[in-house]
Amino acid sequence: MTPKTALTIAGSDSGGGAGIQADLRTFFANGVHGLVALTAVTVQNSLGVQGFTEIPADVVTAQIKAVASDMGVNAAKTGMLATAEIIRAVAKTLDEVEVGPFVVDPVAASMTGDALLREDALEAIRTELFPRATLITPNLDEVRLLTGVSVVDAASQCAAAEALLEFGSRWVLVKGGHMTGTADCVDLLSDGREYISLSGPRYETENTHGGGDTLASAITASLAKGASVPDAVAAGKKFIERCVAEAYPLGAGVGPVSPFWALGPS
Ligand code: PLP
Repeated sequence: MTPKTALTIAGSDSGGGAGIQADLRTFFANGVHGLVALTAVTVQNSLGVQGFTEIPADVVTAQIKAVASDMGVNAAKTGMLATAEIIRAVAKTLDEVEVGPFVVDPVAASMTGDALLREDALEAIRTELFPRATLITPNLDEVRLLTGVSVVDAASQCAAAEALLEFGSRWVLVKGGHMTGTADCVDLLSDGREYISLSGPRYETENTHGGGDTLASAITASLAKGASVPDAVAAGKKFIERCVAEAYPLGAGVGPVSPFWALGPS
């Protein structure tokens, strides 16, 4: 039987831990066929991002149109978008083709602190993509860059969600994984009416490369299969928890979260 499809509009990670590599295996592990519009080629390993080259914006547009017009897209997500020009091209293209529920992971920098976005591009994500998004999934660093709100507790997490919803997405997931001093990882999902707190275990590991991409992709896969946003986020959180629990060291720096458990017992 033909599976549902999910499209990732994102960059390549030569280290294979994040980016389209994480997205495609997460789609696969969640039973959907992965489609790709590549935005940038990064040169990186576990120690960081040494540089990147972006794909011309018209080629990004052409990739989206090619798959949407022929194969159909049941849900889409964005990861690394690299430049304001690519972001504007993606926004315009999404007005012309049908991609179903649309998840925006506002990737600004890698966890090693290296920029994955040219300087003027965050503003374009906020103004061009958030109003078109079903769900946005910022981490706490991205929340601070986007709103100026520093999330330190439940009240400021709620204030951040409200500030982010002002930009026009239907739902926001304020991820609490980077909060310090909490025993659990508490994420807050809201559409401005419902406030859903999702609590999960915090695992002691240095190896969390690709975690944000993997969560957003798992959510997108569930949306492609027809889940509601709250159900897709709950399923995505369960998926990423296991990936973080089984993350492994690779290279001298930050290792990747693990998708291998999804293969079943070996
Ligand atoms: N490289 C690419 C191509 C990415 O898309 C991302 C995250 O979206 C990263 C690197 C950063 O991943 P992390 O912050 O998990 O290290």
